[in-house]
Amino acid sequence: MSELDAVVVGGGISGLATAHCLARSGLKVELWESASRVGGKIHTASQDGYCLDSAASMVMNLRNEVDAFIETSGLDTSKLPRAPGNKRYVLDASRLQEVPTGFGKLLRTPLLSTAGKLRLLAEPLVGRGKDPHESVAAFVGRRLGREFLEKVFEPYLAGPLASDVDHAEAVSTMPRLRALESRYGSLALGALLHKCLSRGSAARPQAFSFSGGMASLIDGLARNGGFRLRKGLHANGIWPVKGGWMVAGSADKQSRTVFARQLVLSTPAGAAARLVHALDPLLAELLGGIDYAPIKVVHTGFERARVGHPLGGSGFLVPRHSGFECNGCLWISSLFPGHAPAGKVLLTTYLGGARNPAAAGWDQTRCLDAVSPMLRKLLAARGEPDMVHIASHQSALPLYHGRYSERLSRIAAHLEQLPGLHLEANYRGGVSVRDRILCAQAAASRILRQQQEKPARTSIWLDSSKLPDVAAATGTIS
Ligand SMILES: Cc1cc2nc3c(=O)[nH]c(=O)nc-3n(C[C@H](O)[C@H](O)[C@H](O)COP(=O)(O)OP(=O)(O)OC[C@H]3O[C@@H](n4cnc5c(N)ncnc54)[C@H](O)[C@@H]3O)c2cc1C
Repeated sequence: MSELDAVVVGGGISGLATAHCLARSGLKVELWESASRVGGKIHTASQDGYCLDSAASMVMNLRNEVDAFIETSGLDTSKLPRAPGNKRYVLDASRLQEVPTGFGKLLRTPLLSTAGKLRLLAEPLVGRGKDPHESVAAFVGRRLGREFLEKVFEPYLAGPLASDVDHAEAVSTMPRLRALESRYGSLALGALLHKCLSRGSAARPQAFSFSGGMASLIDGLARNGGFRLRKGLHANGIWPVKGGWMVAGSADKQSRTVFARQLVLSTPAGAAARLVHALDPLLAELLGGIDYAPIKVVHTGFERARVGHPLGGSGFLVPRHSGFECNGCLWISSLFPGHAPAGKVLLTTYLGGARNPAAAGWDQTRCLDAVSPMLRKLLAARGEPDMVHIASHQSALPLYHGRYSERLSRIAAHLEQLPGLHLEANYRGGVSVRDRILCAQAAASRILRQQQEKPARTSIWLDSSKLPDVAAATGTIS
């Protein structure tokens, strides 16, 4: 039987980044992925010369640690910074308005009424909130006013986060903003102070992809990660033993059982719930109760000449009650010109999310019925697209809804009783690729510290009657 320092289950960006950080620290690591390809939600397809990302289309980076990660993964050379110009738009009364960034633009924007602007300026005078679980709507409405909430934050939550401002917990969804309030008593003053204090040490905000799309990040980690990758191996049993964990999995008709000192589950929450159920049903219940929103990603390609809008910027978000069934549209070919053939544009529209889960069941015709009128009206797109490609995710993103931080605290308390078991996926610590890399680095440091603690902490031992059936399976994959 193989003995490993760590097994990571799940080959999405969370698992790959964690396995890479552990392997780089000198640990003997295996990563198990049940599908025949790694990447999880992240996948890049190619069609008619377009580069089509099915989930993350870019990394929004604000931290030096992410740059260092990309460099050490050998991915620096294929890194593709976004094209210059960072205008973002939001739909407002049938027109696209630029989202104001900076004080001057905020004062001049036609997006907000004079009353809305005055309300924003009053933000430093607003007192701290008392409800630790208040929703994003309550938090933003209280601090920045209802108009800013509806015109800027609601579309932001429904778009990139597929979430719902009325249900999303502020402290889980936007922890940095909540921290500014609790530390400085004001978002505006806190942000200003933070900017002054971190001058010189913070990374310059940047967005980037890779020349082969986001799959390059996945392929690079799979190739050069330094761990043993086992594709098509589905983990179906875990149990604690002295000094570590036994992990069992199956691929076709074979099975594999290994001992690992550390076990990282980087699967979606439901899959982690199934794995821990036999040893901690309450933990399984906490994980199983995390809801996910579905998303349809509708890529459309047009001749440049058939789209009247200048497409100068990254795209636009759509607020609720706009009359359109879409959450937002990225102008991918403006961000990364190489992702579309010369003379063509690539417009990627997002449907579904918590706002419209029914879109999960839509076929291509129904999706285009939602997308085409919007592209015609807002971007002056003429005729049918030359290229259509749709990616569907039934469980696209976890929703940090309700008293989510309390759920996470209870999950952490259960993990305390299961030393050597780690949960590292996008339902903990943020959904963005940047957050996944930062969480992987933190998890690897924590795991290394635990490895160095001698003697190993005592694990709970299960009696043999509680072992999953698969433990008795014969036939192993070497
Ligand atoms: C439409 C969309 C657009 C997005 N856009 C952006 C963006 O522009 N920028 C950004 O930063 N982020 C973006 N994100 C978020 C980001 O892509 C995801 O949060 C991230 O990819 C999730 O990674 P993960 O590894 O946590 O989970 P997953 O990608 O879901 O990976 C989990 C893996 O575990 C495997 N698995 C499950 N059970 C088992 C088992 N029992 N045994 C073995 N393997 C198992 C699965 O097969 C899967 O490969 C977007 C997400 C979506 C859906």
